[in-house]
Amino acid sequence: MTNTLHNEAEEYERKRLFALRQLNLLDTSPSESFDRITRIASQLFDLPIAAVSLTDADRQWFKSRVGVEHWEIPRFKACCGEVADSADTLVINDLLASNHYRDSPLAQSGIRFYAGAPLVTNDGYTLGAMCVLGKQPREITEHEVAILQDLAAMVMAQIELQHAFGRLDPLTGLPNRSKFVEDLQDRARDNTGSICFALFIDLVDTAGASTLQRVMGPAYLDDLSRDSARFLQELLGLEVTLYHMGPCQYALVLEDAEHEQVVSRAAWLQQTLAAMENADKLPFMLSPAVGVTPFHLGKEDPATILRTAHSACQDARHAETGVGFYSLALDAIHQRRFSLIAGFRQALEQPQQLGLAYQPRVSMSTGGCVGAEALIRWNHPRLGTISPAEFIPLVEKTPLARALTDWVIRHAVAQAAQWHRQNLGIRVSINISATNLEEKDFTARLLATLAAQNVPLSAIELELTESALVGKGRAARDELDALAKAGVRIAIDDFGTGYSGLSYLQHVPAQVVKVDRSFVAQIENEARSWTLVKSMISMAHELGYHVVAEGIETHEAYRLLQALGCDEAQGYLLAKPLPAQEFESWLSARHEGESSLGRRDVLG
Ligand code: C2E
Ligand code: MG
Ligand code: MG
Repeated sequence: MTNTLHNEAEEYERKRLFALRQLNLLDTSPSESFDRITRIASQLFDLPIAAVSLTDADRQWFKSRVGVEHWEIPRFKACCGEVADSADTLVINDLLASNHYRDSPLAQSGIRFYAGAPLVTNDGYTLGAMCVLGKQPREITEHEVAILQDLAAMVMAQIELQHAFGRLDPLTGLPNRSKFVEDLQDRARDNTGSICFALFIDLVDTAGASTLQRVMGPAYLDDLSRDSARFLQELLGLEVTLYHMGPCQYALVLEDAEHEQVVSRAAWLQQTLAAMENADKLPFMLSPAVGVTPFHLGKEDPATILRTAHSACQDARHAETGVGFYSLALDAIHQRRFSLIAGFRQALEQPQQLGLAYQPRVSMSTGGCVGAEALIRWNHPRLGTISPAEFIPLVEKTPLARALTDWVIRHAVAQAAQWHRQNLGIRVSINISATNLEEKDFTARLLATLAAQNVPLSAIELELTESALVGKGRAARDELDALAKAGVRIAIDDFGTGYSGLSYLQHVPAQVVKVDRSFVAQIENEARSWTLVKSMISMAHELGYHVVAEGIETHEAYRLLQALGCDEAQGYLLAKPLPAQEFESWLSARHEGESSLGRRDVLG
């Protein structure tokens, strides 16, 4: 029992000190607004000493004082400390007559009389005392006690006011961004880890806001902010704290709610706000959007939470529902994407980051290696090896697509030139992005690079996906024709995955079809895949294409494809993509194997 009481007292003291420190009053400069109250106290009581005394862990610190020289005294046996502990008004008529205070530092410094009223916050924490002290023993009337308590209340009003200043938006009267941050930190102290949701509400889009301001004048937006704040607060009820984030922008935090509930609440808010405009409750030109972000209390910092909620709100403008959801996990993906795109520019300039690997292509009739697909490799300085399947689709959407392909072509053609000089009979296959076809001079640049390196057209091939070949604009089609006219060999990559009809095959100037890995992988186990591949091969042959199967991993798949008449094979079964030198070693090992065995085996 005593232990529990002891713990409770400790807990109260911990929270009390937190409340005190949060007010940022300790060790600040004197301020006239407090000094005025202290002076009045001293005059009213006709006593030489008066102070606003704050009880810190082990000291009494004076925010304001009359008749005392020090800024602080030890908390030990200080009367104000007792006021803080008891949260009650304390009067000691004569310190020397008190067993407890007789030997206190205060009594020893000549003080005989003490009266202090507690300084209590709205939340019920006693910060210290408003006190008056005298050098003579003294009585105090009830009326005087009431005056002292009123003065204490005035001090508290001043403290709260000062604290609120900078935390409330003057226009809407709502707590602002700083308060949002503070409140989240507060909540996190008691409930670290619990899941909350931040909602960011934006009533007018940026363009709308600037139009409003231009047409109606700046005061109009102020009125709109004020009205909409009141409206929202009524809508949400007073138990929800609404924060003002900017003109017509608000935020709130929901705790103890399920994900789905929050999403539907956000949708309801958005719809109600949108309907409000029609109901003429608020002026026109509203386009409400609501962003939601879930977070763990105390785990993510409030600034990040606000940023993601705001970002979700911006995304919401493009969503049909006007509601956007943004999880921090998703944000990690966004940020990774951002670093990849941002980092790729550097990678292009730093030779050690990018490289090409070459994966052999083997003739299924002779078993000889006839080509190699050049596949880009990126070793990111911070993120490590990044798969092209991850970064190519990102880079393709940026103007860097051109530089990427230029880099690949330059290096692949240089390699092709070397192998051509060595007479290895290896055709280098280069992957091209759809956007490259929109570059007017693509063909010309490619031909120039080949000429500069003395590489015949037959030593390279371009791989383009179905989707790159189908349904492109005029410019892309022209470029494709230019490539065909120049005699560049074109392969349709990932054949069968483009979901486009097959009619495009009639007018695409390609010579090679690469059956996608997804069909090849299933060929042994799924009869349907086998049938599909069989029809793809026979149809491609009938149309005059050379057929390559990619992603062959097993002997069985190889055998089945060979039986179906597939022309070329590529896949881990033969070799993984290899750095140029390893590719050369692989090639010579294979040639040796061939000659010693006197026959051409699949695996060399
Ligand atoms: P893709 O052109 O279809 O390349 C084949 C992908 O399959 C390569 O992945 C290759 O390593 C992988 N692969 C080959 N054999 C096997 C196998 O037996 N099993 C399995 N599981 N995978 C196999 P990678 O190198 O990760 O490249 C992925 C994609 O990135 C490529 O698909 C291509 O679309 C793109 N890409 C790669 N390099 C370039 C480039 O230089 N330029 C452009 N525009 N795209 C590139
Ligand atoms: Mg490819
Ligand atoms: Mg492919």
